[in-house]
Amino acid sequence: MALSKLDQLYREVILDHSAHPKNKGLVPMDKGSGPVIELKNPTCGDVIQLQLQVNEAGIIEGSHFDGVGCSISMASASMLTELLQGKSLEEAHGLSQEFSKLVQGETVTDGRLGDASLLAGVAKFPARIKCATLAWKALDQLVDQASTASNQRKEESNE
Ligand code: ZN
Repeated sequence: MALSKLDQLYREVILDHSAHPKNKGLVPMDKGSGPVIELKNPTCGDVIQLQLQVNEAGIIEGSHFDGVGCSISMASASMLTELLQGKSLEEAHGLSQEFSKLVQGETVTDGRLGDASLLAGVAKFPARIKCATLAWKALDQLVDQASTASNQRKEESNE
């Protein structure tokens, strides 16, 4: 089966992210590290740790991941951490919802997902959807935690 030129380009970008992942390696505890969430995808053996540094204003200043897994899971985590820099928690939550639609085969048109939009092809391979969404599920949990923490801070300062 011959791949179209476009499919080949997508493959190259995905393989490049998995071979040379961005933001791989967690920030050590003594250097202003943020909370870490670890998630596993037992069907494929992927393990991902995602870490966010969120400032007082709720903006993501740093995003790192670590772990082991297949090309799709590693590429997706690399693409995600690149996308998150400078985003607010609300924006991060929106991106995650958008990505979830994308990998289920829905058309996503506004281009917010950057390189991650190239993972749309996994919609055709249901077994790989969990690989692609693993880092994003970790993101959802971190965003929930950070939102709760920031609401608590607001309540305390209102007292
Ligand atoms: Zn996988």
